[in-house]
Amino acid sequence: LTLLLIGSGGREHALAWKLARSPLCRRLLVAPGNPGTASHGTNLSLDVSDHAAVIAACRREGVDLVVVGPEAPLVAGLVDALAEAGIRAFGPSAAAAQLEGSKAFTKELCREFGIPTAAFARFREVAPALAHLRAGRVPVVVKADGLAAGKGVVVAETLAQAEEAVESMLGGGLGAAGAEVVIEECLVGEEASLFALCDGTRAVLLGTAQDHKRVHDGDKGPNTGGMGAYSPAPVLTPALEAEVMERIIRPTLDGMRSRGTPFAGILYAGLMLTESGPMLIEYNTRFGDPECEVLMPRLTSDLVPLLTAAVDGDLSGVAPAWRDEVALTVIMAAPGYPGPVAKGSEIRGLADAEAAGALVFQAGTKSDGERLLADGGRVLAVTALGRDVREAQARAYAALDRIDWPEGFCRRDIGWRAVARET
Ligand code: ATP
Repeated sequence: LTLLLIGSGGREHALAWKLARSPLCRRLLVAPGNPGTASHGTNLSLDVSDHAAVIAACRREGVDLVVVGPEAPLVAGLVDALAEAGIRAFGPSAAAAQLEGSKAFTKELCREFGIPTAAFARFREVAPALAHLRAGRVPVVVKADGLAAGKGVVVAETLAQAEEAVESMLGGGLGAAGAEVVIEECLVGEEASLFALCDGTRAVLLGTAQDHKRVHDGDKGPNTGGMGAYSPAPVLTPALEAEVMERIIRPTLDGMRSRGTPFAGILYAGLMLTESGPMLIEYNTRFGDPECEVLMPRLTSDLVPLLTAAVDGDLSGVAPAWRDEVALTVIMAAPGYPGPVAKGSEIRGLADAEAAGALVFQAGTKSDGERLLADGGRVLAVTALGRDVREAQARAYAALDRIDWPEGFCRRDIGWRAVARET
């Protein structure tokens, strides 16, 4: 098959690495890709928001299957446009991607189908939102309805913080994404993520993970896209996994199907494991980044038949197989991240890190002749396997320490929760 992978981050490098290992993959194209994906396939410079251009590239290159990595093209309807053009594409339709594209949409679905989630209210006007806050309790969570690249959620400890968040979001601070806000009850518990591969009707568990959102050690500092992750998440026991599949994922698929917008693709459930059981915090409709960097190295099954079975609407009989090992990834970021970053510093020593047994997935990099330069916020995802989190962690940091990039920084405690649980 000729495959076209859409995206350019660490997630896409991990997907490219995995797809290229499939005996079914004759040719791998990546648009736009990054220097890491170029070592597993051919990067195409393509504006992926231009659906006609993507369709033309698919026809020109004889693409059999398109795999969409990031959320923005899903919400923008790339999969719908490809399907209309008769091109098979893995990922949800725009209507189904509303599970990620609109928090209000997902909360209403939860309400309608009895899916456990935090109590909520929706507002488009400042005054009633403030009145609601003043009548309620803190901490409270204020969320912009739309996609805000991780900047649309404020967990407010005080009423003043909550009021400020409402005023800023409804005041246009996040553009159209904040035209509506969802105010939620603050849940207490440990967070974990569960990934389900869906064909519109059925869902198959595709692993669990825990990420580290805050920029600094000890879960301090501002939120980021994720500074590291490990898989599986030991806190999600087999019994809890089954409960999430049954009480959260299944009613979501049933609900979406009954509304005439079946969900096919990756359903990524962000969960809070509360005293009264697992509750849905949010859905994403694609692989997580950096979670994908720990799921792919553990997956022993060929990814291509899994994805084609989902696109073809028949996951019956599909059972992904996994290595009996833990994977852990540490993000190296550019100085300034998650704020504005300095670009252009040179990175050396990736081969040394890989010789130490790690996989180095590239995210925000660019090549300049023979040199590799930092070109984004999150730059590298250094990933290692081990018998337990402690061993995977030790291997990942040993490899990372061989990377010669003095400007880069990372957290030193990725996996701390699981390591504490292991000891
Ligand atoms: P992502 O970057 O994962 O897509 P997001 O910006 O879409 O995230 P959420 O995942 O909904 O936003 O929320 C971000 C974080 O805020 C969560 O990981 C969680 O820590 C916290 N959070 C969100 N909702 C709640 C809640 N109801 N109770 C407690 N914490 C919450």
